[in-house]
Amino acid sequence: MEGSDDSVKVAVNIRPLITSELLNGCTYCVTVTPGEPQVQIGSHVFTYDHVYGLPGAPQSCKIFEECVMPLVDALFRGYNATVLAYGQTGSGKTHTMGTNYLGETSASGIIPKVMEEIFEKVKKLRDKTEFLIRVTFIEIFKEEVFDLLDPQTHTAKSGPYRVPIQIRETALGGIFLAGVSEPAVKSKEEMASFLARGSLNRATASTHMNSQSSRSHAIFTICIEQKRTASSFQSDAGHDILISKLHLVDLAGSERAKRTGADGLRLKEGIHINKGLLSLGNVINALGDEKKRKEGAFVPYRDSKLTRVLQDSLGGNSKTIMIACISPADSNADETINTLKYAKRARNIKNKAIINRDPVAAEKKRLRSQLEQMQGELHFAHSGSALLKEIQILQEKVSLLELKNEVLHHQINEADRKCREKDLLISKKPQF
Ligand code: ADP
Ligand code: MG
Repeated sequence: MEGSDDSVKVAVNIRPLITSELLNGCTYCVTVTPGEPQVQIGSHVFTYDHVYGLPGAPQSCKIFEECVMPLVDALFRGYNATVLAYGQTGSGKTHTMGTNYLGETSASGIIPKVMEEIFEKVKKLRDKTEFLIRVTFIEIFKEEVFDLLDPQTHTAKSGPYRVPIQIRETALGGIFLAGVSEPAVKSKEEMASFLARGSLNRATASTHMNSQSSRSHAIFTICIEQKRTASSFQSDAGHDILISKLHLVDLAGSERAKRTGADGLRLKEGIHINKGLLSLGNVINALGDEKKRKEGAFVPYRDSKLTRVLQDSLGGNSKTIMIACISPADSNADETINTLKYAKRARNIKNKAIINRDPVAAEKKRLRSQLEQMQGELHFAHSGSALLKEIQILQEKVSLLELKNEVLHHQINEADRKCREKDLLISKKPQF
């Protein structure tokens, strides 16, 4: 199977100072090296694959075109892909991802553009390919996985009434969520309605850092199944089924628990959030360290639900981009440095993405070609034996004709002899 070594790509998105920061008299403490994907903060200099947002760097709206569009293309070629937004609460993760998209036409953010692009592509390929597109939307909150599309939680609101779902592993080591809702969607609008439904279900609670921010990890997944139809079947030998997934992940705030500074319960949530992100950090460290990787160091995916769900996206079968979101405000400098360090390590991770062919379809394809080959051989064998029979008949005919020939030869000789005897008798008769 085709495979490609892909490092996890890292982009940094720097939002402008927002009103509350301006009102608090904050100033910019982050600068960008013009024309370079490089961020400077104090004496620190960090280089990434892309940097967006501040003067000297491309605008944030370019993220989709430059970072996400290649992943959508890969998705249609059968690769898994993941987009992760990382950063402290209020740094712009939800804004960047567009997780709060409610169907508005002028929406910014990655997810609405992904939807648009997917259905554009489907429209173009529809004559040759059958598509089955499904979505799932989950959140990981206090180390439990919840189905944001479960129709029963829709009315029950977030909270203790929700039943967590279990993470299971397939025989081949793939991760799946037992019983998660996976509605099939046929249009961008339908897909957007599921995103909107899930976003409303997301657990949110206020902290003094961002009154609207969610303290859960949200994962919106688009699964695409493609099957080439009969018309392309003739010309294309690869008439198999491709199944690929795009994970769009809006992580919870990466700030340390003490900064949430809320009541006991909130603090506990903060610690749980940090458990996921702490494990994510450990996974990134284990995968990003070349020496450790070569030594086959243990990667602690199982330490948290978040790292288990993302197991394939980091160090596995996925083309992955992490978008580190940062605030440029001097009041956030410590957290911004932490985010930039974390993102720098993620850049060292190597993934190995492969095209996901449906194993059943691939086996069917192999058996079908084997059958065709055997039918060909059988046909050839059949035609061979018919030829042999024909030769035999011809041989018999030849020997029969040879025999007839001999008899005729004999008869001619006999007739010839008789003629000559007759001539002799005539010539010996006395002449008068
Ligand atoms: P997070 O999800 O990381 O907690 P949000 O996406 O909710 O952060 O953003 C926090 C605030 O900053 C919101 O009010 C949002 O509108 C604003 N914001 C984020 N990114 C940008 C941006 N690129 N341009 C303008 N405002 C932004
Ligand atoms: Mg958010």
